Amino acid sequence: MALTLHSPVSALRGIGPAKEKALARLGIATVRDLLFHIPHGFEDRSRIRLLSEATDGIASTLLLTVGTEPKTARIRAHMSLTKFRAFDESGTVEVVFFNQDYLKNTFHVGDLYRFTGKLTPQKRMFSLTSPAFEQVTEGTPLPDLYPVYSLTEGISMTQMRKLLRDTLAEVRHELSDFLPEELRRRLLLPTVGTALEALHDPTDMTRVEAALRRFAFEELFLYSLGMGLSKSASARTPAVPYPLPDPSPFLEKLPFALTDAQKRVCAEITSSLAERVPMNRILVGDVGCGKTVCAAYAAYAVMHGGGQVALMAPTEILARQHYGDLAPLFEALGFSTALLLGSTPKKEKERVYTALAKGEISIVIGTHALLNERISFAALGLVITDEQHRFGVAQRAALREKCAGAHLLVMSATPIPRTLALVLYGDLNISRIDEMPKGRQRVKTFVVDESYRTRLNAFIKKQVEDGGQVYVVCPAIDQKPAEEENADLSLYEKPPIKTVAEVKAAMEKALPSLSIGYLHGKMKAAEKAAVMDAFVRGDISVLVSTTVIEVGVNVPNATLMIVEDADRFGLAALHQLRGRVGRGSKESFCVLISNTDTEAGRRRLATMQTTFDGYAVAEEDLKMRGPGDFLATASGDGVRQSGGLSFRFASLCRDTDLLTAVSEETARILALQGKDAEAYRAENQALFDELDTRFAENRNLLS
Ligand code: ADP
Ligand code: MG
Repeated sequence: MALTLHSPVSALRGIGPAKEKALARLGIATVRDLLFHIPHGFEDRSRIRLLSEATDGIASTLLLTVGTEPKTARIRAHMSLTKFRAFDESGTVEVVFFNQDYLKNTFHVGDLYRFTGKLTPQKRMFSLTSPAFEQVTEGTPLPDLYPVYSLTEGISMTQMRKLLRDTLAEVRHELSDFLPEELRRRLLLPTVGTALEALHDPTDMTRVEAALRRFAFEELFLYSLGMGLSKSASARTPAVPYPLPDPSPFLEKLPFALTDAQKRVCAEITSSLAERVPMNRILVGDVGCGKTVCAAYAAYAVMHGGGQVALMAPTEILARQHYGDLAPLFEALGFSTALLLGSTPKKEKERVYTALAKGEISIVIGTHALLNERISFAALGLVITDEQHRFGVAQRAALREKCAGAHLLVMSATPIPRTLALVLYGDLNISRIDEMPKGRQRVKTFVVDESYRTRLNAFIKKQVEDGGQVYVVCPAIDQKPAEEENADLSLYEKPPIKTVAEVKAAMEKALPSLSIGYLHGKMKAAEKAAVMDAFVRGDISVLVSTTVIEVGVNVPNATLMIVEDADRFGLAALHQLRGRVGRGSKESFCVLISNTDTEAGRRRLATMQTTFDGYAVAEEDLKMRGPGDFLATASGDGVRQSGGLSFRFASLCRDTDLLTAVSEETARILALQGKDAEAYRAENQALFDELDTRFAENRNLLS
C-alpha cells in the first residue's frame, strides 16, 4: 500500500514494534505526526573549534586527523571498546566508541573527520566518547546545520534525523497546502512541503526562519479565522435585552463605594446588556483594581431581568474563591447560586444540571466544568469568564458556541498590546478600569539574594506575629530530571532551582513556630481546596506554592509575597504575583529572591522596585527580554497551566508583523458576503477542512 500522511509509522521502512513504541512515547503515531515532530533547535557544525579550546566541557565540532589504527578490546561480556587517537594542530585526543566493533574498519590513519561531541578529561589526555562523525572529502562539502529533536529511549538523534529526511522525501508529493496560494505568495510564505524540508533537512537559517514564520502564520491565522467565524455566527443569534436595573439594592450590600472607573465600566456594561445584539466585551484592568464587582453588577442586572448567569474561572481555587465572595451577596439579594467544579461529586452535578435546566438556579460559578455538554440553561443571559487568556483555544470556541445568544463578558488582568488584542479578541468591545480603589498602598518591593535569608526569616516571623500572612512562590514542585537525551547538546547547564518541597522543609526548620502549608498543581483538587481554605481562614500563616495561586486569588490579610528564584519569572508574572498582596489596608511587601549574577537579570528585577503599573511592567519586560512570549507564564508545574494561549510556533510578541497580517486577512475573509463568501469557500475548501480539524471538538462551530 502506498504511504500516505495517515499511514501508521509502522508502515515506514525500519520501524518495527520497538521503534513504533518509542515514537508513540513522543506522541507520534502517523506519518503526519512524524513530519510535525519539529526540531527544537539546530546544531551548527560550521564553527570548528581547536582541541585546545574545546576542553571546557561544551559540545564542540572538531576537525581531526586519525592518528592511530583503531583497536577493539573486549572489556566485559557485552561490552567492547574501539579506540584510536586523532589530532589537530593544537593537540591529540583518544576517540572512543562502545560496542561498535565494525568502526575498526571505518577509520584509517591519515583520514580527516569532522567530529561533534564533548571532551572529557582522562588520566593521560582528553577523550572524545561516541562522537558524531563525518568524513571530510575534497569536493563534497558537509552540511553545516543539523536539526535537534526531542528523543526518547530507543531512538537516537542520528536515527531520528535520517527517519525524518527519508520520510519527508517519500511523502513530499502528498503534502498539499491548505493556505490559499495567492495569500502565500503575497506574504512570501513557503509551502508546507518546502517549510518542512527546510526544518528537517536544513541548509541555512534563513530558510529555517521562513519555515517557522509560515507555521506561526498558519497557527495565528487559523485561530483568528476560527474565532472570527464563531463570533459572526454568535452575533447572528439575537440576545435577550436586560433593562437597566435600579442599582441601589446591589450597591447597599457592598462594603465599599465603587470608584469612578468602576461606575463608568458598570454603566458601559449595563447599556450593552440592554441591547438585542449580544454583548461581546472584555473588561481589562490591573490586578486588584476591582473587576469582580463590576462583573457581579452585570450578573445582578441580568438576574434581575430574569436571566441566568454562568461565571467561569480558570482554576478551582479561583472558582471557589469567587463563589465564596459572591454567593452570600447574591443569596442576600434573593438569587439562588451553585458551584460546579470538575471535582464536584456526580450526584451534586446532576442536581445542578437539573436545576439549571429548570431555571431554579440564577447564577452558577465554576471552572470549565461549565462547558460540559450535558449542561443546558433555561434562560442563559450572561457568560462571564475570568482571566480568559488562561483558557485554551478549544475551550474558548466551545464557550462561544455554548453561549450563542447570551451576552459575554471577559475579564483579564493581562496588559495586551493592540495588535494582539485584534487577533485574540477581534470585535470585542473594551472596557478599562484605570483607577485603583482608594487607600490601596503600593507594595514595597525588594530584590535580595541568598545572603538575606536569615533577615528574611525574621521578617516573615514579624509579619505573622503582626497578624499578616505570607506567600512563598517557587518555580518548581520538585527537581525535574535533566533532559538526558540532549545532554550532549545543551549549551549550558541550568543551575538547580528552588522547589516547593525544599523551601517548605527549609522554612519549617527555620520557623518551627509557624504553621506552614503548601500547594501545587499536581495535588488533587480537594487537597488544594482544603489548603487554600485553611489559608483564607488564617489557619495557615505561610503558604509555599507554585504559581497556581497566581490567578486572581484574593486574601486581603496577606501582607508579604516572597518569590524564590525570581529571575525565572517574567516581569508580568511577577507583577501578577505581587498583586496577591496589598489588597487589605495593611502595609504590604514583595521580596524577590534572586541569585542571578548577570547585570541584565538584576536590572530586570530592579524595575519591579520602581514600577507598579501592569502596563508599564509589561512594556519594560518586552523591552528588556526582547522576543519572548510574555503571555506564557512561568508555571513551575512543568506543564503549561491549562494550556492557556499556547501556540506552538507563534510568539505573540515577536510576531507582531504577522499579527497585523493575520488580522487584516481575517477581516477580509469575514467581510465577504453572499456569493463572494460561497465562492471563497468553494475555492479554499482545504482551508476550511483544516479549520474543522483544528477546532475538532467544535465541529458544528463553523456550519
Ligand atoms: P481584580 O481586578 O484583580 O480581579 P478584585 O475584583 O479581586 O480585583 O478586587 C480586589 C480587592 O479590592 C477585593 O478585595 C475587592 O473587594 C476590593 N475592592 C474592589 N473594589 C473596591 C472599591 N471600590 N473600594 C475598595 N475595595 C475594593
Ligand atoms: Mg480577578
